[in-house]
Amino acid sequence: MEINFNGKRALVTGASKGIGRDIAVQLSKCGAKVVAVARSKDLLDKLKSEHPSIETIQLDVSDWKKTDQVLSKSGPIDLLVNNAGLGWLKPMTEIEQKDCDDVFAINTKALINVTRLVVKDLLARKAPGSIVNISSQASLVGLLNHTVYCASKGAVDAFTRAAALEYGPYNIRVNAVNPTVIMTEMGKLGWSDPKIAGPFLEKIPLRRYGDGK
Ligand code: NAP
Repeated sequence: MEINFNGKRALVTGASKGIGRDIAVQLSKCGAKVVAVARSKDLLDKLKSEHPSIETIQLDVSDWKKTDQVLSKSGPIDLLVNNAGLGWLKPMTEIEQKDCDDVFAINTKALINVTRLVVKDLLARKAPGSIVNISSQASLVGLLNHTVYCASKGAVDAFTRAAALEYGPYNIRVNAVNPTVIMTEMGKLGWSDPKIAGPFLEKIPLRRYGDGK
């Protein structure tokens, strides 16, 4: 299948490493002009040096005000991948307010804000658009020690359904994808221990985690 994004500008959040980096590179290979956003300057510089056509922006998307300022000056966006995410493991009884705030600030609230900004611009330009939210299998099933992460991704799915309903009539599509474990830094955090990985892999038909290959 040939995918052609020539003439489209694509914004990818959390593009300094892991899934987001690969998405940014693939979109660029498919012809999109890619804007890659993340906090780590060194990783963004590395991305830029390997893929000079990708534009990089150093930004913490959990900062709404700064995100508004920066994205309002970064040009029109036709395709958005809301990928930036945070995950950690803790028994539910040990969770503190800051843990909750940090996860929801990135996984859920930043995704809402960036979607809001991009949709406003698409509506103003009367342009079609496509938004893909990187949710997780964790929104659909219970995973041990993942309560807050699961809740943050459940909110992403609910937001995606409602936003798709609201902006479909304007030719702006909003979808979510719900990957299982992908062996990025985040994936390794929860799923490297063979005691945990073994029973989980039994339930995956391919008997392996995603690795981008
Ligand atoms: P990762 O390797 O930890 O990468 C996370 C990315 O998000 C990094 O580029 C990070 O860049 C960026 N990021 C985090 N906080 C940010 C912030 N405040 N502002 C801007 N960028 C921020 O994680 P991953 O495994 O690739 O996960 C990517 C997405 O897929 C996440 O939404 C995750 O929940 C979801 N997901 C992952 C898996 C999995 O098994 N790996 C499975 C299902 C869904 P900086 O640190 O440079 O800011």
